[in-house]
Amino acid sequence: MAMSCDHPELLPLEEALRRLWEALPAPAAGEVRADRDDPAADRAAMDGVALRAADGRRPRRLLGTLFAGDDPAAFRVESGTGVRIMTGAALPPGADAIVPVEQITDADGLVHVQVDPDPGDHIRVRGEQARAGDLLQPAGAPLTVAALGLRAQVGLPVPAPARLRVDVASTGDELVPDPEPWQIRDSNGPMLAALAHTLGAEVHRRPALPDDPEALAAALTAPDGAPILLTSGGVSMGEHDHLPSVLAGLGARILFHRIRLKPGKPMLAALLGDRLVLGLPGNPVSAYLNALLFLPVALARLQGQPPPDPWRSGRLAARVKNKGDRPLLHPCRREDGLLHPLPSKGSGDLVTLARAEACAWIEPGGLEAGAETRWLPVL
Ligand code: AMP
Ligand code: MG
Repeated sequence: MAMSCDHPELLPLEEALRRLWEALPAPAAGEVRADRDDPAADRAAMDGVALRAADGRRPRRLLGTLFAGDDPAAFRVESGTGVRIMTGAALPPGADAIVPVEQITDADGLVHVQVDPDPGDHIRVRGEQARAGDLLQPAGAPLTVAALGLRAQVGLPVPAPARLRVDVASTGDELVPDPEPWQIRDSNGPMLAALAHTLGAEVHRRPALPDDPEALAAALTAPDGAPILLTSGGVSMGEHDHLPSVLAGLGARILFHRIRLKPGKPMLAALLGDRLVLGLPGNPVSAYLNALLFLPVALARLQGQPPPDPWRSGRLAARVKNKGDRPLLHPCRREDGLLHPLPSKGSGDLVTLARAEACAWIEPGGLEAGAETRWLPVL
């Protein structure tokens, strides 16, 4: 039976993630070509002795030693001779094989070889990885860590690693440091700052914002703002939830508002100039989970990295109900390789989230014990 859909306007999570990815610019990354043969010379792959294979096991007279970085023209290997050579050193002229140090002994001033060498043994041949001019990475390829290393190898500039700046601002008149029973402390601000830091951002905590459109507008347009602003609260349907209308009034491009996820329905993302605003819901579990889902995507895209995939898969130790029409992320402990659902009071239940190690994806209709599903590690 098809599930009924109470909220047909809600955007599926994958679609929201895709929109965010596509709306953000990746840094320009030009193509990468080999500037020279790789390796640029025949090179030792082992520490040992460079010699001529055709001499077989005949003892060799050592001419000297070549270290990585030495010019190999200092020696010329002939029949009956060899050069001690270290990994990474270029092969001296005349040599065609290396016998590793483990397979030689020194006696009577000569090197004795315990194996029958073959030409090419333990040599990285010039150009075996790439030829000068070869295309190694097309323009726009993801700037993975290895791809950055490759750029350095071919002599392209690689900027020093820097953390992307993320501003974190909570919203809500109820947030005070020393709360009366009708007030609360700001738990989202410190929590989201810690999350952004853990995800590799440089975090700036901003003062909590009142539920006031003018104060919100001023904070959103602050001239010293970061490329990413994480707010929490003020994005749902309450009379004090001003963020969507303030963003609209400032001419922001709303990427999405309201997604098909529980908790986290009010989630909003918008571009205000080049600044990304991730308007997280105020409820702490919603704020946390949406930041965990959306912030890594934004950070990766803005740094030219491949799209992150935080999901793992596992089996439930017990049944989880989901009577709603949205997929549910349910807090679990992990034990004996299984996901053990925790009794949770929902989107405000930070007590349970703080005990959880995982949040399991539960489709509408629920899942039985033993069912396999995807899950997110709780950081
Ligand atoms: P809102 O979306 O602003 O209506 O907030 C939803 C719920 O989350 C309300 O119960 C708020 O009091 C709570 N909340 C909002 N911001 C925070 C925060 N920074 N820390 C803890 N709870 C919050
Ligand atoms: Mg609020």
